[in-house]
Amino acid sequence: MSKVVVIGGGASGLVSAIIACRNKHEVILLERNSICGKKILVTGNGRCNYFNTDQDVKHYHSMNEEIINQVITNKNLEKVLSFFESIGIIPKIKDGYYYPFSNQAVSIQNALIKEAKLLGVNIQNNMYVEDVWPCHNGYEVKTSEYIYEADCVIVATGSYAASKTGSDGNFYSLLERMGHSIIKPLPALVQLNAKGNFLKDWSGVRADVEIKLLEDNTTIREESGEILLTNYGISGICVMQLSGMVARGLDLEKREEVVINFIPSLAKSRVEFIHLMDERSKLLRGRNVSELLDSILNYKLVNTLIKNAGIAISKKWEQLSERDRSVLASQFVEFRLNIISTNSFSNAQVASGGIPLTEINPLTMESKIRKNLYLVGEVLDIYGDCGGYNLTFAWLSGLLAGTLGEKND
Ligand SMILES: Cc1cc2nc3c(=O)[nH]c(=O)nc-3n(C[C@H](O)[C@H](O)[C@H](O)COP(=O)(O)OP(=O)(O)OC[C@H]3O[C@@H](n4cnc5c(N)ncnc54)[C@H](O)[C@@H]3O)c2cc1C
Repeated sequence: MSKVVVIGGGASGLVSAIIACRNKHEVILLERNSICGKKILVTGNGRCNYFNTDQDVKHYHSMNEEIINQVITNKNLEKVLSFFESIGIIPKIKDGYYYPFSNQAVSIQNALIKEAKLLGVNIQNNMYVEDVWPCHNGYEVKTSEYIYEADCVIVATGSYAASKTGSDGNFYSLLERMGHSIIKPLPALVQLNAKGNFLKDWSGVRADVEIKLLEDNTTIREESGEILLTNYGISGICVMQLSGMVARGLDLEKREEVVINFIPSLAKSRVEFIHLMDERSKLLRGRNVSELLDSILNYKLVNTLIKNAGIAISKKWEQLSERDRSVLASQFVEFRLNIISTNSFSNAQVASGGIPLTEINPLTMESKIRKNLYLVGEVLDIYGDCGGYNLTFAWLSGLLAGTLGEKND
């Protein structure tokens, strides 16, 4: 039996503590908040999207992508699902997205805390870990009140993302001091800021779009779905999916632009847009350009795009030159937006970057730099798309670390 100290009682910390306890180790879990799993409560808009049927590794991102498929294996994913079954969570699955049957994130938080307590995990809330150092064959873990001795330490402190839930990246420098390197953490799954006087005009509008991310003029990712146009730029799940790449590109001083088709189901190209407008102007005689598009998109967006094209709202389609028609078409189907930054970590769901996957054993999550030190969850350089992938990695890495390297099939 080993003495295990788990630092951080979020998703990955709770699971690793439970598994270590099930494996008959003595476990202390130190959490700075007054309750564990605070971040779990805000996931999935309060419903906790905790897993996804589609576990293609393309949904996970890291600077060392070649290591991802050693961690995200079918066997490990099955372990995640049977773990949730073992703590009484019945899934409600919608389009492959898993939620607890209650549709309430608190059910997952409660189930994890209850299981940990019943097994005998010694949960110490309001306990901020200030330092960890190696000693004898293990570690000493310092809080403001005590020094805990441990044979093994599991670091589950998260990243800089959503610091109001407790994760403020305080462990990166500590791990660096212990010999680890750090890939610069940057916000991911976050809104994008753009430049333009028109932003205030389209603020609040939603549209179903196709969106492409161009880095130095080359398309690097395409998404589709609902976009929210705001007075600072753009938001929505399809935008957030691009944001990790945008942040990394901007950090490398690359040019990041998005190209938006606001009406992908009606026109895929400028030619198709012009054809659509020809047909509508024949059908709806006497209407101006804005009125022809009125029932297709939100009027605020229609008028912003017409104004951006330099065309008077009162103009009729027949009055437009070929050039004007083409400029208008590009506004609707190839709208180019220059991205200047992402929103900050406080708005981000996760961070990209962290401790490189090359510095851990992907089968056990044990550090390759320090024996009996395990790293789990978001502190590592891996993040996933929206859709349950970040929690999947948190649970999965916690399950692996909790076995402390013992074979446990
Ligand atoms: C708004 C929002 C919505 C999200 N929705 C989803 C979703 O639906 N599906 C999904 O898969 N992912 C979602 N995520 C991402 C997901 O929540 C995280 O990736 C996941 O919780 C990371 O788990 P973790 O254990 O690594 O870190 P965290 O959950 O951040 O836990 C870290 C814990 O460590 C504690 N801690 C930190 N430092 C110390 C210290 N020095 N001493 C003691 N304790 C410390 C913190 O208080 C915290 O409790 C969402 C995130 C946000 C912010």
